[in-house]
Amino acid sequence: MTQKKQIMVVEDNWLNREMLVEILADRYAVLEAENGQEALELLQQHQDDIALILLDVMMPVMDGYTFLDRIKADQKLALIPVIVMTQSDNEEDEVDALAHGATDYVAKPYRPQVILHRIASIIKLREDAAMANLFKYDRLTGLYSKEYFYQRVRERLLEDSDGEYNIVCSNIENFKVYNDSFGVEAGDRLLREFADMSMKMIGKGGICGRFSGDRFLILQERGKELTNRERMTADIWGNFHAGQNYVVMKYGVYEITDRSVPVEQMCDRAFLAADSIKGQYNQWLAVYDNTLRDKLLREQAITEAMETALKEGQFTVYLQPKYSLHNDGLAGAEALVRWIHPEWGFMSPGEFIPLFEKNGFITRLDRYVWERVCAMLRDWQEKGYPSLPVSVNVSRADIYQANLPDMLSDLVREYDLKPDQLHLELTESAYTENPAQIIAVVDQLRKLGFIIEMDDFGSGYSSLNMLNQMKLDILKLDMKFIQSETAKPTEQGILQFVITLARWLNLSVVAEGVETWAQLERLREVGCDYVQGYYFARPLPREEFEELLKRNPAGTMESDWPKRENTGLRRLLIADEDADYRKRVRQTFESQYQVLEADSAESAIACVREYGHNGVSAVILSTKLPDAGTERFLRSIRQDPMLWRIPVMATLPSGEVTEDMIQHLDTDDFLCKRHPLCDLRRRVSYLMNMVSCREREQMLKEEACRDYLTDLLNRRGFYTAMGALRQEDLPLACYLFDVDNLKQLNDRNGHEEGDAMLRSFAELLRRHTRSGDILCRYGGDEFVVVLRHISSVETILRKGETICREFRDSVAADGTHAACSAGIALCSFEEKPSAKLIERADQALYRAKRENKGGCCLWDGARASAES
Ligand code: C2E
Ligand code: CA
Ligand code: CA
Repeated sequence: MTQKKQIMVVEDNWLNREMLVEILADRYAVLEAENGQEALELLQQHQDDIALILLDVMMPVMDGYTFLDRIKADQKLALIPVIVMTQSDNEEDEVDALAHGATDYVAKPYRPQVILHRIASIIKLREDAAMANLFKYDRLTGLYSKEYFYQRVRERLLEDSDGEYNIVCSNIENFKVYNDSFGVEAGDRLLREFADMSMKMIGKGGICGRFSGDRFLILQERGKELTNRERMTADIWGNFHAGQNYVVMKYGVYEITDRSVPVEQMCDRAFLAADSIKGQYNQWLAVYDNTLRDKLLREQAITEAMETALKEGQFTVYLQPKYSLHNDGLAGAEALVRWIHPEWGFMSPGEFIPLFEKNGFITRLDRYVWERVCAMLRDWQEKGYPSLPVSVNVSRADIYQANLPDMLSDLVREYDLKPDQLHLELTESAYTENPAQIIAVVDQLRKLGFIIEMDDFGSGYSSLNMLNQMKLDILKLDMKFIQSETAKPTEQGILQFVITLARWLNLSVVAEGVETWAQLERLREVGCDYVQGYYFARPLPREEFEELLKRNPAGTMESDWPKRENTGLRRLLIADEDADYRKRVRQTFESQYQVLEADSAESAIACVREYGHNGVSAVILSTKLPDAGTERFLRSIRQDPMLWRIPVMATLPSGEVTEDMIQHLDTDDFLCKRHPLCDLRRRVSYLMNMVSCREREQMLKEEACRDYLTDLLNRRGFYTAMGALRQEDLPLACYLFDVDNLKQLNDRNGHEEGDAMLRSFAELLRRHTRSGDILCRYGGDEFVVVLRHISSVETILRKGETICREFRDSVAADGTHAACSAGIALCSFEEKPSAKLIERADQALYRAKRENKGGCCLWDGARASAES
């Protein structure tokens, strides 16, 4: 039996009430009230069940009209239809009733059929409207539903064919985390607050809808408001989330220019724009444009190609070595995937991994990589190579796979490996997304014997919490960590703190992205355990990595990890005409270094060129190379800015090292060939360590060559750089710039503003030059720029003028206009760059100031000689 609908009868006259109940009872459940007051009280309890109210006008305590006014003022009660019972033929009553918001009226005396008919049709009407509303409005927020939003937008675009509109979508990025942390009710409240704020923000002309979950849509007239990021974020962070900075909003904008695009697609594009900045911490707003479209097309192409690529083995595993800082030895590798596509060529994971993470393909690719790595480890084991662990990346999506731990342990069993040979790198952001899941999975994996490395540690904001909750083995510091630490002294200390923390938690620390000697030294200083980065090696193809591995004598690594020296990673070149001596050296050092041999200056030069200064760590050089080869070799490496740092030890057949020889040969050490072996060993080890001393020295030298204020070269640096120019750099252009008004600015506004002006000029110069050009602050307000390998005089002049003009257009804080002049001198193929260049540029500058204030002039030889 279906439940009867409920009707409330509000009537003070007992007899009338009875009559009405009599009429209604068959079809409806009836609730009775004697006056308005009582009716209101009943409504408090039954408002959701009452389908209609029959209302008398004249009543004690609270009359019908007052009652009507009260319920119409309440948003929810106002929706209940009310039929007012009037005295027959009293038109005034009828008008009053409708004016107070009644849905209809019936006249007394009651005619049962009329009443029943009216009631039935009014209830039906209301239900239809409610039904429509249900689709029109979102229940939770009261905004338009997605479909109705589309329809309203279509209508608006038709009505206003000239209007300019944007679709703006928004997305609460970490809504799931918010819901999990604060509960569903708080989540709902957040959504409602956000909806209210959006309504306020769009003002009268806008349309606002909820797309789904935490995604909202707005149609907004194109104007400043919504594309102005500052205002928007101010609104967001100021009004909306006061005190709740857990909430991260992302906005996407689609500017409606082509109205033939379906509205649904416009909205999709706005969301695509918003999604394109997902996870980027400082980006709140993105606009859909052609680059984004191209990116999407590219993504589509990648998606279409990925299955075939996997089937045809286009994915290849590269290995990037990891080293131990305890013994400087090779300690393992990270497997990094590369895609070598038959048409597109070599692709870095940055291009396709994020997409695979989105479309789910990553789980299949990862499985493939893990399997390749296991096969590789098996193969190495069979070949008797030393056993080093290789780490593989495990994506977020893998963690959600129900059978991950089983799958991995089946895999290692299949290849007869121990689980700890496979390190698993899990990214920290997986924790942010779903802590409970990752904690459970990591726990299981560790029980099975896998080693867990927490990748990208410090890049997100869950780090400390995570360490507290989850047991790990290794922290892998995000590369931004070490890179910013060495770049910004203010950030020092954090690294030390993290490492102390890791010690305390019994975790090892790997630093990735180590690119310079300075970074390495810093890591040693703070007690980091392992390092990985371009400073040592890029990710290598399997064969190249195996070369490294093979040089590790088997069996030395079971107990401890290998010595770096024993890996043969460092190369020692022996350049000697005497084959027996070369052999002796090779036998002495073979187990420690990779020994390269050369019997002439030419082959020795070719060898260092091939490996570069990071490749050859030291040279043992005979003083008797044929055809004065010793001097030739030394000259050619000492003049090469890439090679001059390689330490060289000269060997003599016998006899004493003379003062004259030291003067004559630019080497770092001398040794008589009839030495005892231990002497040779000691000297070579000393030589090998010299590289890092050289680098330290080099850094100091560079510091001495820089202008502290602008970070351009100073005068000393300038002459060094000019000295290193080569024939290939010609022809050259040399600009001498003179900044005007510096003195006035200094005097009037203080040196800080003067300094700021100089720095902004230096910035301007950087913007207009290439990285190999020479930029120098030559004196107080004088700057020199040397452009190498120039193409035409016109471009040179134009560049000078552009710089002067742009500088003129910049204005100091107090309104002082900046200005500068420039003189230019050229150096052609036939000439050698010399101090003359500056002199000539100076003469041209003088002329520029006299004749062409604020512009630039080219030195003109004929004119200069006429004037002198
Ligand atoms: P990741 O796991 O953080 O890997 C480290 C990335 O840093 C690698 O980039 C590596 O080549 C690069 N790198 C190493 N040393 C240096 C350095 O000194 N300086 C700089 N600037 N970068 C350095 P790659 O190979 O392009 O990989 C990028 C990301 O793609 C990886 O970041 C990882 O998240 C993902 N990825 C790579 N291979 C796989 C895979 O097989 N599966 C999964 N799920 N993700 C992978
Ligand atoms: Ca990694
Ligand atoms: Ca990483």
